[in-house]
Amino acid sequence: MPFDRHPGIRYFKPEEFERRTARDAPLVNWWQFLDPDVVYALDKLRHTYGNPIIISPADGTIGRVGKENFYSDHYCDVDSDPPRLVRALDVMPIVITQNEARAGLAREQAFRISLAAIGAGFNAIGLYPHWKPYPGFHLGIRRGTVTMPASTSLWGNVKTKIAQDITSSEYVTASDALLAWQPKNKLGLET
Ligand SMILES: [Zn+2]
Repeated sequence: MPFDRHPGIRYFKPEEFERRTARDAPLVNWWQFLDPDVVYALDKLRHTYGNPIIISPADGTIGRVGKENFYSDHYCDVDSDPPRLVRALDVMPIVITQNEARAGLAREQAFRISLAAIGAGFNAIGLYPHWKPYPGFHLGIRRGTVTMPASTSLWGNVKTKIAQDITSSEYVTASDALLAWQPKNKLGLET
């Protein structure tokens, strides 16, 4: 077996971390390029949550490249010194009912998993109620310095209607994102 950067991970397989950086870009497996702290925090969160957490299927949801992404926690540059490993990923925790139906989180569960994410070690957490196929979270770990630990950032992002058929999204507080979140999920469960 080749060198595994993340031994002992209980809930995730390397194959789950294959994503493109952008449309038309090649498929990359980011497993070896993820900061170990991020993978262990994700595994811990999954353990606390007790249900599946899927990595968002969108492009750029794990690693990103190119200068325009330099300040993103998704940025990756293994050739820099020291190497920049991916420090954030976008996820969709789901619930599975007894008849195997899948659904995204309802508001109350989204609130609780935000706190659980901090407890698991993430300190940059974004709430995205409008993501498809399920509402989701940006989960990242920002490094502090010896004298200044990184503070915890929580934010939200919601869809806004600009005109009749045109929507955009804007950054809001995490509280406002929770208000925009569906109180129940599509299966009608108040999770
Ligand atoms: Zn993200």
